[in-house]
Amino acid sequence: MAICRFRALISLSKCKFSSPFQSFRIRRFSSSQVPSLLENVGFIGLGNMGSRMANNLIKAGYRVSVYDVNSDVMRMFSQMGVTTKKTPYEVAEASDVVITMLPSSAHVIDVYTGPNGLLHGGKLLRPWLLIDSSTIDPQTSINLSATVANCIVKEKKGDWENPVKLDAPVSGSVIAAEAGTLTFMVGGSEEAFLSAKPLFLSMGKSAIYCGRAGSGSAAKICNNLAMAVSMLGVSEALALGQSLGVSASTLTKILNCSSGRCWSSDTYNPVPGVMEGVPSSRDYCGGFASKLMIKDLNLAAESAKEVGCKYPLTSQAQEMYTELCRVGHETKDFSCAFRHFYAGKDEPLDK
Ligand code: NAD
Repeated sequence: MAICRFRALISLSKCKFSSPFQSFRIRRFSSSQVPSLLENVGFIGLGNMGSRMANNLIKAGYRVSVYDVNSDVMRMFSQMGVTTKKTPYEVAEASDVVITMLPSSAHVIDVYTGPNGLLHGGKLLRPWLLIDSSTIDPQTSINLSATVANCIVKEKKGDWENPVKLDAPVSGSVIAAEAGTLTFMVGGSEEAFLSAKPLFLSMGKSAIYCGRAGSGSAAKICNNLAMAVSMLGVSEALALGQSLGVSASTLTKILNCSSGRCWSSDTYNPVPGVMEGVPSSRDYCGGFASKLMIKDLNLAAESAKEVGCKYPLTSQAQEMYTELCRVGHETKDFSCAFRHFYAGKDEPLDK
């Protein structure tokens, strides 16, 4: 159904990464085509990622209502003309779809099943679709999916009699969240995934169906395991290069057209001065915090233990990022491993 409306928007384009709400501006927006199944979207968890994802949904024309425990963030959204709610349950009561973007499994469980949580109304649920984009353990995703499937949709939307939950964590940094270029990896009902695709593509550049409930969460922790290890590998190589007299900017050019190329070398380079606009070039602020990397590696390690296999690099990376947090870098971007472990040197920006 085509819906035309003007709405107040939040522009995050000039946000400072340390405080993403400092420079919101209101601007008016044009019309958009929003499927009626997805018209009213609730968004819970308006942090570094969620605030930007919610903003992209508003820009795309969805009618969004939001909730976060942080009252400053709520005030900011409210001042921008976005509907704010007092509890997750109130969000659910106003929504066809609810998206959560929260720090960890415990937060997600609380928002779903805690007092005034999304499931506060018992078996009757207003939304037909619940999407959790947080990075959490696969088993929690599976459990919540089963709980939601036992409920009934209060106001039937389309053919959906029982609500569905999808685990849909994302790959991409805060920059990608703002640019709307995230990748979603989705587990749960394929039919629901296909129906929800316009929503994903309003916040991201791709959405990949991974299989049954929990498989999106599983894919995400595997991706982040690869990212954690490759960041350490690239940092080690670039620091060794510096010590051997090859600058990191020269070595980066070589890696990026050779077999060593990866995201950590060509998109998110850890050496201050080699690349503009990445955390390493702003003192490792405003990126993917080391403490979040530890959370993801712990999830990978627990999953590895559950399936009874050995994953030596997971353990090694776990130790190294734990050390980063222990010495006070828990809120710095995880690429600060370059400076901490290898005493790597900053380089002048090559313009
Ligand atoms: P964040 O800490 O910036 O934001 C989390 C938000 O959730 C905060 O605003 C917090 O107030 C809110 N919150 C916490 N408990 C709540 C509750 N009970 N009810 C409502 N709101 C609550 O975290 P983030 O960086 O936005 O990351 C969110 C998720 O996305 C994490 O699972 C993270 O692993 C994942 N992720 C992050 C990045 C990144 O680069 N930051 C990239 C990919 C995935």
